[in-house]
Amino acid sequence: MYIVDLINKKRMNGKFNKNEIKYIVDSYVQGKIEDYQMSALLMAICINGLDSEETIYLTDAMLDSGDKIDLSSIPGIKVDKHSTGGVGDKTTLIVLPIVASLGVPVAKMSGRGLGYTGGTIDKLESIPGFNVNVNISDFINQVKKYNICIGTTTSSSTPADKKIYALRDVTATVASIPLIASSIMSKKLAIKTDLISLDIKVGNGAFMKDLNEARLLAKTMIKIGKKFNRKVISTLTSMDENLGYAIGNSLEIIEAIDTLKGKGPIDFYELCIQISANTIYELGLTKTLEDALELAKEKIYNGSAFNHFKEMVLLQGGNISYIDNPTLFEKPKYIIPLYSKEEGYVSLIDTKSLGLASMMLGAGRVSLGDNINHMVGLKFYPKIGDYIKKGDLISEIYSDANDNNILDLVNNSYKLTKEKTDFKLILDVLS
Ligand code: URA
Repeated sequence: MYIVDLINKKRMNGKFNKNEIKYIVDSYVQGKIEDYQMSALLMAICINGLDSEETIYLTDAMLDSGDKIDLSSIPGIKVDKHSTGGVGDKTTLIVLPIVASLGVPVAKMSGRGLGYTGGTIDKLESIPGFNVNVNISDFINQVKKYNICIGTTTSSSTPADKKIYALRDVTATVASIPLIASSIMSKKLAIKTDLISLDIKVGNGAFMKDLNEARLLAKTMIKIGKKFNRKVISTLTSMDENLGYAIGNSLEIIEAIDTLKGKGPIDFYELCIQISANTIYELGLTKTLEDALELAKEKIYNGSAFNHFKEMVLLQGGNISYIDNPTLFEKPKYIIPLYSKEEGYVSLIDTKSLGLASMMLGAGRVSLGDNINHMVGLKFYPKIGDYIKKGDLISEIYSDANDNNILDLVNNSYKLTKEKTDFKLILDVLS
């Protein structure tokens, strides 16, 4: 096979067979295909797409490129959860403890954040001592005994996705449904859980800007799951505003702790309850979705979700005095308040700009390998439909430097109008 012919084939909207896709993925991982050739091919895929068969072949080839984690020694139905990435998205830290507290084993291998959306692993590492580098046998033992573990992926887990995703990130080839679906699903299939609960983000702070496109992504991932005998449930949720108030690593951990104690922001709490309930209902643990919603709420209010989170922190070496007393988290040099200069209904929030502001403060990475500052970030309080008065507190910037560019970015990230705008957080559920 000759890579130039394959690039040309996709440029002309041809269809790849299984061997051709395997050749492309394996040769790229082995360094036999150059980055510039792979970039051209990825762009041709972005433009002309892959059909469902090609998408399955690509997922399979990427899955095959690395180690797989066999959870068959853990009794019961195992659950994994994944979000396509959002701003202020700490949902995993609530949903996993809720589901684990029902006696369901939850096993998650998570990535680090890149760009303007944060990563669960970075958030957890803001808890002093928390170890995300759990080896496979410890990972399995912890899930077996305590039903919950969140570790980080290693270089040997789906290396093809790591290399291809890094290239997509710098060649404007992320926004392609078959590429996103195969990227996410290859990682999810590498850890052999039975149910994968997906949170697909839609809106100005997400990869998917359009609900119909997001539905197509969900259906593609459900189809891939079926082919590999895994159940997939997708909750489609809005990223037209930041989730909760906190954006940035330790700020989000503190907000997650508040939520686990039943004192979190209402939008974030409701989203976590809905995703937990969808997962619980799909597992067949309740007769109705309403019962599942009640059960998820009960796990917050009786403290068992919080206790599971705390237990996980303890088992993974984290200092639990920070969980009991979040005021111990170190603060940056400045906490700068921003106040509204106008009044009106919040009609638009530029969520991506808020994510970028947090990244520029040092909470996120521009390139993999960059160091991050766990203390910095921001709290952004307005929600779409809220009425804001002149002088109301809009945001608090947690920063180690007094940077006016960031303050301007946050100040310009929302729009007030005379008319009230409606907002819906949960957009659809597909399985
Ligand atoms: N997240 C992933 O893991 N892969 C993508 O392609 C997009 C989002």
